[in-house]
Amino acid sequence: MDYQAILNILQKEFTPKEGMGKVASYIPELSKVDPLKFGIYLFCQDGSSFEFGDSQEKFSIQSISKVFTLTIAKELLGRDLWKRVDVEPSGTSFNSLIELERENGIPRNPFINAGSIVVADALLSVLDDPKNDLLMFVRKLCGDNDIHYDEAVAKSEKKHGYRNKALVNYMKSLGNITNDTDKILDFYFYQCSIAMTCEQLSKAFMLFANEGKHFQTQEKVIDRQSVKRINSIMQTCGFYDEAGEFSYRVGLPGKSGVGGGIVAVHPEQYSVAVWSPMLNQKGNSALGMKVLEELTSLTGLSIF
Ligand code: GLN
Repeated sequence: MDYQAILNILQKEFTPKEGMGKVASYIPELSKVDPLKFGIYLFCQDGSSFEFGDSQEKFSIQSISKVFTLTIAKELLGRDLWKRVDVEPSGTSFNSLIELERENGIPRNPFINAGSIVVADALLSVLDDPKNDLLMFVRKLCGDNDIHYDEAVAKSEKKHGYRNKALVNYMKSLGNITNDTDKILDFYFYQCSIAMTCEQLSKAFMLFANEGKHFQTQEKVIDRQSVKRINSIMQTCGFYDEAGEFSYRVGLPGKSGVGGGIVAVHPEQYSVAVWSPMLNQKGNSALGMKVLEELTSLTGLSIF
């Protein structure tokens, strides 16, 4: 596959323009980002890589972090985790409260805010130093220590995180939260604030394209069963109430964040990260979705 030629086509075909979407503003710090940033990094299982644009600039990974915390929680808690969070597409926005009442405080899946807050709570119960452990895990996956929390973003979200406060308190009232709610939210806001480049993200996600093995050392980080399960949750729940649309258009498991990043994986082929901060109405990168759709169309490869 001539990925370089394909990326050249994508670069010509797609240019970010004002009006394509809106940069997230409900976290004030995120609204400072230049809407016209645009980068992509495609990392193949054989180690080759292809990129253009702002692929080396760090951005706020936001909900993409939910995949990392789920991966750790699944390893440490196994099936017990699924007593507290489901694996069903939500069909509602990422910060919705509505399903929680119907489902008795059990979030629909770990990739919406409610679900990831439960995962954060579960991690707080089993890790000695959750913030440090999470950062170490992500750094290890990328083989890169230059990954940090963005204090300004975490603080900005903490100050304005009324929805997430409502979610954690509501779940607490229904018995699905064990730790102190402020501590859980602090961890959750920090996990969302991690700043990474497209290169770092696609390298970290190579785990899910490489049978659970680290791309450099080939060390087994998670087993194939976990890869299957996490990829299926990404496929069905990675884009909130646009998960069906992403699956239909792109045909790969993936995860988005309101920082404008999307990571998608093609098992045994590549992982790809794209960043364009202008979001569509569902909170997913508008240009990012289009580029990935074209990528799988041009390669003629998708998991289907
Ligand atoms: N930190 C964001 C929030 O909790 C994450 C949302 C997202 O990326 N979709 O609202």
